[in-house]
Amino acid sequence: MRVMVTGGAGFIGSHLIDRLVSRGDEVTVVDNLSSGVFDFIRKHVDDGSIIFHNIDLKNLSDLKPLMHEIDMVYHLAANADIRLGTKITDTDLNEGTIVTYNVLEAMRLAGVSKIAFSSSSVVYGEGAPMPTPETHGPCIPISLYGASKQGGEGLIGSWVGTFGFQAWVFRFANIIGRRGTHGVIFDFIHKLKSDPNRLEVLGNGLQEKSYMEVGDCVDAILHVIESTNQPFNLYNLGSNDTCSVRRIAEIVIEETGCKGASIEYTGGDRGWAGDIPKARLSIDRLKQLGFSVKYESEDAVAYTTRALIKEIMGE
Ligand code: NAD
Repeated sequence: MRVMVTGGAGFIGSHLIDRLVSRGDEVTVVDNLSSGVFDFIRKHVDDGSIIFHNIDLKNLSDLKPLMHEIDMVYHLAANADIRLGTKITDTDLNEGTIVTYNVLEAMRLAGVSKIAFSSSSVVYGEGAPMPTPETHGPCIPISLYGASKQGGEGLIGSWVGTFGFQAWVFRFANIIGRRGTHGVIFDFIHKLKSDPNRLEVLGNGLQEKSYMEVGDCVDAILHVIESTNQPFNLYNLGSNDTCSVRRIAEIVIEETGCKGASIEYTGGDRGWAGDIPKARLSIDRLKQLGFSVKYESEDAVAYTTRALIKEIMGE
């Protein structure tokens, strides 16, 4: 199988590439390294098992020639910093919606018709029943990032309906694990590294979300694609429970050995405007395909904390 991974130098993309390479796929990676890290994929580039193109997906003309000879695209490139949209309001429009249009259009022009897309639980917006099933609607995202994911899903649906594409759309919970470059655990470790006596927590700490370990996420993506064959396949990916921000702070303090650190909450029910304080996805549809996660939320948090401490503190 000849596949393209957009955003392949990123956190999740690089783990996906490890799996695709190990099963023998021929992998082309497109990434502009805006938040991706070349070292995550360096070994595969050096040994010739993947081809890497440092290309900005906003430029359709740069992408078009790379699409020939590709069987399927895993489209993961996006701005992954939800908070950025509160300051630079066209970030998600450009890096999410427009980029997804460019990927679809380059595929259509080259005759490539299979796409997997990394969407997010944030498309459900606030107030959805929990655990939230894929059938929930109407979906009203409250962040610009969420709007771009919903826009991407809509574009993909329209390419399925109009041009006969086949799509797998994954609404991810919070994905965490080795090589994480953003998110709450990453932030807490960095804060404690600069001040081991004090940990500032955005919000009141009662935010409660579902966490999925990145290995589970990548396994689930590949399992769903192998097990389903509808024109448009929509799956929530997450674990069965949640973990609170307060508990994450305690775990990070314990694992970093900063036992005397005081936890200081900035207050309010959410970390930032557009944040959804409580989220838990129904993963019944995923489980019906015979998939089970290895890590539930708190175990995933503890495992990730230990892994990121090694990476960040160099231990
Ligand atoms: P990441 O930032 O590590 O990966 C995104 C990659 O896309 C980066 O390598 C970046 O350099 C690349 N990229 C961004 N804009 C680009 C452009 N214009 N042209 C080319 N490359 C570009 O983030 P991640 O956590 O690995 O997320 C991967 C995907 O999963 C994203 O679409 C993200 O929105 C989605 N997602 C992630 C989570 C999570 O918890 N990490 C949750 C829900 C959805």
